[in-house]
Amino acid sequence: MVSREVQAHDTVVRFGNAAVGGEKFAVIAGPCSVESEEQLMSVAEVVKKHGAVALRGGAYKPRTSPYDFQGMGVDGLKLLHKAKQQLGLPTVSEVMEVSQMDSMCEYVDCLQIGARNMQNYALLKAVGESKKPVLLKRGLSATIEELLLAAEYIYDAGNPNIILCERGIRTYETATRNTLDLNAVAYLKQRTHLPVVVDPSHGTGVRELVIPLSRAAAAVGADGIIVESHLNPCEALSDGHQALTGPMFKQLMQELKPFVEAA
Ligand code: PEP
Ligand code: MN
Repeated sequence: MVSREVQAHDTVVRFGNAAVGGEKFAVIAGPCSVESEEQLMSVAEVVKKHGAVALRGGAYKPRTSPYDFQGMGVDGLKLLHKAKQQLGLPTVSEVMEVSQMDSMCEYVDCLQIGARNMQNYALLKAVGESKKPVLLKRGLSATIEELLLAAEYIYDAGNPNIILCERGIRTYETATRNTLDLNAVAYLKQRTHLPVVVDPSHGTGVRELVIPLSRAAAAVGADGIIVESHLNPCEALSDGHQALTGPMFKQLMQELKPFVEAA
């Protein structure tokens, strides 16, 4: 069970050299989508240089419009694997369907369940039966209770290596893409032993808001963030408006230094 009542100590989820849920604030960073070898490697080098512990990048993309870029698929997974081999950064990528599990498990270190699939129970069971760590995102309109029950599906299927992710929810507010629910972070830290990370990129949808909300995530007690970055966001094939540029990522890491370096 994911409740603190059955396990008082914090779960630490490890993949490669990354540890999420320990003493240090973990920064997972990379592009929304893997677009090309050049794009992925160049941003991966930058985020590694400034202290990211893992590389994110979507190969299967859940796009609102079917006419938008849908991701590179298995070729994108292979590029993530190559980046990991060259830079030593473990990888996080989204699995959208059970049929993608074999290739995901072959090439990726941590399986992301996207917001749109938080209640895809067949997929939750499939990642639960795998041995890979899972980053489970809160659904667009899911309550905290529903998020915890989704995590329970994975846990109950045999996989205790679950990272919860608050990525913003739908509210009446339209000034930002979503409303980042920082209450959820403080609440979840009390209710569950699982690590909790924040996605300030999807939580705001606005590049200029990502650094302040990352600081807020650290202040409220999150175990880390997963953040989108692109060296040329104007050319990005998805979510360019919320991607941190290279200099902004450097700035982010400087501002998070006390948390990232905590002993
Ligand atoms: C993503 O991480 O690129 C993504 C699609 O996130 P979410 O599922 O939170 O919308
Ligand atoms: Mn995205």
